[in-house]
Amino acid sequence: MARLAQTAGLSEIQQEILSTVKTFVDKEIIPAAQELEHSDTYPAEIVEGMKEMGLFGLTIPEEYGGLGESLLTYTLVVEEIARGWMSVSGVINTHFIVAHMIRHHGTEQQKQHYLPKMAEGSIRGAFSMSEPDLGSDVAAIKTRAKRDGDSYVIDGSKMWLTNGSTANLVATLVKTDEGAEKAHQNLTAFLVDKPEGYGEVAPGLSVPGKIDKMGYKGVDTTELVFDGHRVAADAVLGGTPGKGFAQMMDGVEVGRVNVAARACGIAIRAFELAVDYAQQRKTFGKPIAQHQAIGFKLAEMATKVEAAHLMMVNAARLKDSGARNDVEAGMAKLIASEYCKEVTDDAFRIHGGYGYSKEYEIERLMREAPFLLIGEGTSEIQKTIISKGLLREYASRG
Ligand SMILES: Cc1cc2nc3c(=O)[nH]c(=O)nc-3n(C[C@H](O)[C@H](O)[C@H](O)COP(=O)(O)OP(=O)(O)OC[C@H]3O[C@@H](n4cnc5c(N)ncnc54)[C@H](O)[C@@H]3O)c2cc1C
Repeated sequence: MARLAQTAGLSEIQQEILSTVKTFVDKEIIPAAQELEHSDTYPAEIVEGMKEMGLFGLTIPEEYGGLGESLLTYTLVVEEIARGWMSVSGVINTHFIVAHMIRHHGTEQQKQHYLPKMAEGSIRGAFSMSEPDLGSDVAAIKTRAKRDGDSYVIDGSKMWLTNGSTANLVATLVKTDEGAEKAHQNLTAFLVDKPEGYGEVAPGLSVPGKIDKMGYKGVDTTELVFDGHRVAADAVLGGTPGKGFAQMMDGVEVGRVNVAARACGIAIRAFELAVDYAQQRKTFGKPIAQHQAIGFKLAEMATKVEAAHLMMVNAARLKDSGARNDVEAGMAKLIASEYCKEVTDDAFRIHGGYGYSKEYEIERLMREAPFLLIGEGTSEIQKTIISKGLLREYASRG
């Protein structure tokens, strides 16, 4: 993009990474996206290309075989990939969250075991909190792990696992009996190894099938059923049970910046398509871009793209500085996903009847944008987090 969504102060390495990814998106992702999406086909070749570029290890420290890049670099890469096809960013998103959690909360043994293989993409991560009866209300998790000698036995059902079939490592949050009064202090994150595929993939562990979704196609979203599945006690993330809620929330915080980046990417693409179409399509003797109503729409769309990008960058930089970014990540996710929905809707209107045809990319973006209002916490949940944070910060002394 020539003018919009630029980021000041990037290093030469960051610029080089982004330029390589942009070329990859323009050459390999955009031309393939429509066909793969309409046939709900996993983008295997694109994933191989991302492996070769080292994107699975982008934020994993160099000592564990990754590129050691910041959250900011990662989000800018994700924004660029989502501009091409949002589903592809979904392939690396849960992987990135799991790698982040292992890096910051794992034991040294877990880091040594998982991170180098995650960096090369031979171990790929999925992230599982949601269950059939809950998504927002994480503390109500019912899936339970019971200690039995040197292992735990897990029972229960998980829902909505992005990469649930193609991943071979699932960071999953379940209930354990820590005797704590507060429900969330009885939650433990397990690193569950599993083979790829569907059906009973390991004793007592099943991936029933792929959920047929409205959009976000290509990438697999699944359930995961535990029926007496046994894992070693050292599969507890960080080694100490009862700490899973905070560990997963740390993962979700970076995940939220990531969802903001995906929303920015879709909005940028919707703007690109609209601004191009508006100069080609003529009505009443002139390109529709020359009608003030359409020109104003383009102005509003571009302003939203810019605002969302800046808030996303701000939230990423804050986390990179070592500070907590719960409020800023929530704000960025809220505004970017809501604006993304509005910008794609305007781009759709600008396309007139053609926007309703599957031949035009905007039809796909219209089906992708709503997911971002839901994933990593709905807009209502973001507002809850933002308001709690603000009330803490601005506590009245009166
Ligand atoms: C395609 C897809 C992929 C996903 N991938 C993953 C994944 O990889 N891992 C994972 O763990 N989860 C995943 N999810 C689940 C997702 O995180 C949840 O759907 C989301 O958190 C919302 O939870 P819910 O669907 O249970 O809705 P609910 O929590 O039932 O909410 C329903 C409605 O009530 C509102 N609401 C709920 N509580 C409140 C409240 N306190 N105040 C005001 N309003 C409220 C919500 O905002 C929403 O509008 C995925 C979902 C989808 C659709």
